Amino acid sequence: MRSFTWQGLPIRVRFGPGARSEIGAEAERLGIGRALVLCTPGRGEVLAREIAILLGDRSAGIHAGAVMHTPVAATEAALRVVRDRRADALVAVGGGSTTGLGKALALRTDLPQIVLPTTYAGSEMTPILGQTEHGRKVTERSPSVLPETVIYDAELTLDLPFAVSVTSGLNAIAHAVEALYANDRNPLVDLIAEAGIAHLVRALPKLEATPRDLEARSTALHGAWLCGLCLGSVGMALHHRVCHVLGGAFDLPHAATHAIVLPHAVAYTTPAVSEELAGVARLLDAADAAAGLHAFAARLGSPLALRAIGMPEDGIERAVDEITAASFWTPRPPTRDGMRALLQAAWRGDAPGGA
Ligand code: NAD
Repeated sequence: MRSFTWQGLPIRVRFGPGARSEIGAEAERLGIGRALVLCTPGRGEVLAREIAILLGDRSAGIHAGAVMHTPVAATEAALRVVRDRRADALVAVGGGSTTGLGKALALRTDLPQIVLPTTYAGSEMTPILGQTEHGRKVTERSPSVLPETVIYDAELTLDLPFAVSVTSGLNAIAHAVEALYANDRNPLVDLIAEAGIAHLVRALPKLEATPRDLEARSTALHGAWLCGLCLGSVGMALHHRVCHVLGGAFDLPHAATHAIVLPHAVAYTTPAVSEELAGVARLLDAADAAAGLHAFAARLGSPLALRAIGMPEDGIERAVDEITAASFWTPRPPTRDGMRALLQAAWRGDAPGGA
């Protein structure tokens, strides 16, 4: 048996359809007087308005200024709103972009956060913040960005478009897959990771025909919680590094980038960790994890090629430079040739591992 260390994260989680109605009680528990409600523009504002109404006198209004990859300029604009409205807390209602804005503000103000996730990104369960400035994404870990309370209410996800549900669900699966071979993994995270993947593998296909199926939405959100917990608990490896570089350098959509890269990163890594990934292959009913992940994504109609989501072909060399220049732990060290082949295959949308 490997030796290991386990440290739980101090987050309070409320889970259940309709749980958002408890936000007033959760705010009171944290001693919140005036919370600024954060969201992305558009559909996010509809959900944020409902939460602001539920908060009543404890609401300092809505700021619909969250942007993907958490650009520092958007955080600075939101910081002015926090100060103007004398907010003493942050309530993020949305996907990882909104959670990211809440975390970036918490880093600068130490205000308490309540997060109501509406996608499967998993950021709400992590002390990690990625911020983008001048085409580079810089990630840091800090206890001050970890939300105090997370309310998972699957009713908030009923209108998440199927295509976004799929890419976001694959983003969550990526956290769990990399947790299974993390160098600081432990038996509890192994269990959480496989359970998280199993929930999403069961739920996502059901959402195609019945996107408003509350039971399937709850199962998917349950899976997202477990996968997010993996991301918050152990270190990630090659897959997350590749996506981090691509997101920062080319401003690619985060979840779709994860969905496309995952089978390729897993194919590259598998020779070093085939035993650790056996459970993923089993859950996907496939010969190996990479083939199973690729087939699952294809079956759900997820994008399979980086070129389809806006990555320029001449960006491959820059990405190879950045991936190989970075210092990070991964089970199979990235070579320039290996990364070039991985990115070329992912750019074209080939099957992983040269199959
Ligand atoms: P997102 O938050 O940008 O949401 C994607 C789109 O879906 C947006 O247009 C949003 O308005 C819409 N949307 C969200 N919920 C909806 C709902 N319920 N119904 C209808 N529309 C809805 O995307 P994301 O993939 O959730 O998050 C990506 C961001 O999260 C990236 O910036 C990434 O870096 C960050 N992230 C961070 C961590 C971390 O631990 N730090 C982990 C995962 C992701």
